[in-house]
Amino acid sequence: MSLLVVGSMAFDDIETPFGKATRVVGGAGTYICYAASFFTPNIGVVSVVGEDFDMGIIADLNQRGVNTDGVQVKVGEKSFFWSGKYHLDMNTRDTLDTQLNVLADFNPVVPPAMKDAQFVLLGNLTPTVQRQVIEQMNQRPRLIAMDTMNFWMTAMPDELAKTIGMVDLLMVNDEEARQLSGEYSLVRAARKIRTMGPKYLVIKKGEHGALLFHEDNVFFAPALPLEEVFDPTGAGDTFAGGFMGYLAQHGDISFEAMRKAVIHGSAMASFCVEKFGIDRLEALKQAELTERLAQFAALVTY
Ligand code: AMP
Repeated sequence: MSLLVVGSMAFDDIETPFGKATRVVGGAGTYICYAASFFTPNIGVVSVVGEDFDMGIIADLNQRGVNTDGVQVKVGEKSFFWSGKYHLDMNTRDTLDTQLNVLADFNPVVPPAMKDAQFVLLGNLTPTVQRQVIEQMNQRPRLIAMDTMNFWMTAMPDELAKTIGMVDLLMVNDEEARQLSGEYSLVRAARKIRTMGPKYLVIKKGEHGALLFHEDNVFFAPALPLEEVFDPTGAGDTFAGGFMGYLAQHGDISFEAMRKAVIHGSAMASFCVEKFGIDRLEALKQAELTERLAQFAALVTY
């Protein structure tokens, strides 16, 4: 089934304890599309880039079945730029620079062919832009999922609350879940956040895995213990792309399907962190993904 994605396409400068990379292609939308394309060929993306963007990436996404008609290219303007530096634990980072550029006045336009998508993934962006995408759909999609970050919780809490109130599933990390709910216990935080609108909640805990909440059900998936974590940038987006790609592939939104989607999202994210930017996802083979899913099964079955 079809999956509509909205998210940034960007250049990133990244510094980790293991090295530095400048102007690597990133952006939440980019990571999501690469990850989701391993599961479903029916993906459309809505985004905006400047004329400096690497058009080879757009062509590569097209080859992978991603429809990029919804990506606006702004002549004479610069793509979104983000720069971050990771701490030694690789779980926390500081944002050093954010240059909105083309994102500053982004008016998302969902192409007519994508307005009937059954699955929608709103990547981390201004909550008003996320809402504009929902409002352009012809009918209510089967599942609307949304990612966000602490920046929006502080900068525009009311707009964020409005958008959260319109979605079925919210994905945040543990720190963001605590900030959004004002609760330290993640179980309490999950209960409170689900009164704000979303029936489902995914709480990502970096190298400590991810939790899925729905009604009285909780599911936990660990992250695969990796020998080398090189660059965590985009791991959350890659998880989200794998998660929604899996659900769209199977057209099933039962709790059971979502449990499997968490595992598939975690497997995708485990590749993302092995190299800088999207390098590992670009090179990834389906057979490697199958093998890693088997490693996950071995890790959690007893
Ligand atoms: P993640 O590591 O999953 O949080 O995602 C990192 C990606 O998000 C990077 O490639 C950035 O380009 C992108 N990003 C960072 N901040 C923002 C923002 N405020 N709006 C949109 N995208 C962002």
